[in-house]
Amino acid sequence: MSDCLFCKIAKKEIPSEVVYEDESFFAFKDINPQAPVHVLVIPKEHFATVNDLEDTNLAGGLVIKAKEIAKKLGVDQKGYRFVLNCLADAGQEVFHVHGHLLAGRKFTWPPG
Ligand code: 5GP
Ligand code: ZN
Repeated sequence: MSDCLFCKIAKKEIPSEVVYEDESFFAFKDINPQAPVHVLVIPKEHFATVNDLEDTNLAGGLVIKAKEIAKKLGVDQKGYRFVLNCLADAGQEVFHVHGHLLAGRKFTWPPG
């Protein structure tokens, strides 16, 4: 989608600190990190919200990529959180599906 921030980041039209890339997925550091590790994992294909995801391989792939990135960053054994914010009540601000991989500190539950 031409006017989508994360599509532009995935195409490297806008710079980011790239953590991982393959044919279908892209991961980069969040510009405003909420934890020592805060990586955004996105499908390269544009979907506005989780509500628009139909492809099981793509949805599942997002979680598998998060797991692999957590391992690559050395946080897989200590623990991490993988968060998908969908629409207004969840605080979604960028309308291209993205999972927040957060790690490197202790998180509280329930989330605020
Ligand atoms: P949301 O609230 O939509 O789930 O999360 C959007 C996330 O994107 C936020 O954590 C925000 O800091 C991050 N973000 C917004 N604009 C940019 C940007 O231009 N570059 C990067 N790397 N992250 C961004
Ligand atoms: Zn997009």
